[in-house]
Amino acid sequence: MRHWLEVGRNELAGWLAEAGQPAYRAEQFLRWLHRERAAGFTAMKNLPLELRRILADAGSLRVLEERERRTAPDGLTAKLLFAAPGNALLESVLIVEKRLSRRTACLSCMAGCPLGCRFCATGNLGFVRNLAAGEIVEQAYRLDALARENGGAGLSHAVFMGMGEPLLNLPAVLAAADRLAAEPGLGLSGRRLTLSSVGIPEGILALAQSGRNYRFALSLHAPNQQLREQLMPAARHWPLERVLAALDRYALSASRDITYEYCLIEGMNSSPRQALALARLLAGRRGRVNLIPLNPTPGNEFKAPRPARVREFQETLVAAGIQATVRMEKGAAIGAACGQLRAEASAVGDIPAWPCGQIADNRSFQAAGRVSPARGKAGDAAQSSRLPFRLKN
Ligand code: SAH
Ligand code: SF4
Repeated sequence: MRHWLEVGRNELAGWLAEAGQPAYRAEQFLRWLHRERAAGFTAMKNLPLELRRILADAGSLRVLEERERRTAPDGLTAKLLFAAPGNALLESVLIVEKRLSRRTACLSCMAGCPLGCRFCATGNLGFVRNLAAGEIVEQAYRLDALARENGGAGLSHAVFMGMGEPLLNLPAVLAAADRLAAEPGLGLSGRRLTLSSVGIPEGILALAQSGRNYRFALSLHAPNQQLREQLMPAARHWPLERVLAALDRYALSASRDITYEYCLIEGMNSSPRQALALARLLAGRRGRVNLIPLNPTPGNEFKAPRPARVREFQETLVAAGIQATVRMEKGAAIGAACGQLRAEASAVGDIPAWPCGQIADNRSFQAAGRVSPARGKAGDAAQSSRLPFRLKN
């Protein structure tokens, strides 16, 4: 059954015309969906009963069932575990930064992820399935409602930094992002929406060709291809030079600086020499490096470097002319919500380290069609999903 939140204005107008409805019904229904966020059809009093019945038979308004909620000590930031149809578990995070007046939704685009990055809780879970655009939009609306619950304002930003790789589910991610940018709805502008990705050249080029101007964060994590492959096995499919060249194209076409995300791991990628190598790699590129001390997750031995090492890494980059910021933690809690880094969430402290994938993992991630992390054959599981391009083998 279709999710009504993913049906665009034109498609809806065509569908209603076929059902013999006047054109203005599309606007009325869109308001119920995206402004009122109606949870049921009963409230839609300005639509005829018969039409409401047809709409209810043809699609859903909500499909995500909230299974668990964890709230940070500030009482505002929260992480939700949802079950999507087929018991596909996914996590979404609301990050509230009062100081900056930001309320960011960290959204998942997959249940699990096939790419198996070694430091990532989600990668450890394996891949269940791609999420549909409606399931992504619904996460944002549920978090928006949560943000407003305490009398606060709604979402100001959304980042695709939850579970899954956006470029392996690009049609749904773009449809969802476009919807979050639209009115009626959240009306988030391009610079308030960020895609975070391991960097798949074909996907980045497809994004550039699509004419979108969403922000882009590359999960770089290493200054060279060899180390990158060690940390992110899937990177062997996508040579770093090709990734960076594709991103240069996107930066130009979208007029956006790129954020290079660099998760610092003790003894792996955090030495001053590696900082210099990173500076050389990025020399001449506009953008900034976002350093994130690793958020420890079960299933691997990796640790974050000591704060002094993190500072040294940052200072080395800055001295070499590269803009670099650090998300420092207060004690053990880093500014990490969705597993992971938050290029957009620059809060300090108060957000417990709940990497995406951890709640789902505790719930044993029982879901249909799970495949194990693609350590050796990265990307194979994603081959079956609808891709706008082919993965190289
Ligand atoms: N798949 C996409 C988006 C989701 S992951 C991507 O990889 O970019 C979002 C970010 O969290 C990525 O930069 C990822 O490398 C980072 N991340 C994953 N596990 C982490 C951990 N344990 N500590 C810090 N950052 C992590
Ligand atoms: Fe997937 Fe991103 Fe985690 Fe890598 S870091 S396994 S790409 S979610």
